[in-house]
Amino acid sequence: MAIEQTLSIIKPDGVQNGHIGHVISIFEGAGLRIAAAKLVHLTAGQAGAFYAEHKERPFYGELVEYMTSGAVMLMVLEGEDAIAQNRKLMGATDPAQADEGTIRKLYAESKGKNTVHGSDSPASAAREVAFFFSAAFELV
Ligand code: ADP
Ligand code: MG
Repeated sequence: MAIEQTLSIIKPDGVQNGHIGHVISIFEGAGLRIAAAKLVHLTAGQAGAFYAEHKERPFYGELVEYMTSGAVMLMVLEGEDAIAQNRKLMGATDPAQADEGTIRKLYAESKGKNTVHGSDSPASAAREVAFFFSAAFELV
């Protein structure tokens, strides 16, 4: 299987509730490497542009408000099959549907406040990594 990079975000609820360490240890325990990371507070412009694909959805305003409500941990995860692997570790969007042991099953409180983001395809991973990280300075 190919070595891939994917974007992970620990969302404001995950940071606020003190789950950065455990989430990272779940990724590392599964063989994913942290290739880049930064803790930032997104502006509404950044969060809105990042989630542009959801612009027409009814929850878009709520999503942007939530993603700018506190700091988020942005990470590039690298490893074999990293995109699908990260989605599997995250669990389903709605924590009520998420498998036991997944990050969202453990920590998410709702479909909106669901603790982590992960790129869903090679195309979105490429776009999302480039949206937040510069290969020249930050990917190691
Ligand atoms: P995922 O994050 O699992 O890829 P989506 O891409 O469908 O899920 O949605 C992006 C994010 O928008 C979700 O993680 C969640 O924070 C929010 N969201 C999705 N659906 C809803 C909903 N029905 N109500 C509120 N927020 C939602
Ligand atoms: Mg998605």
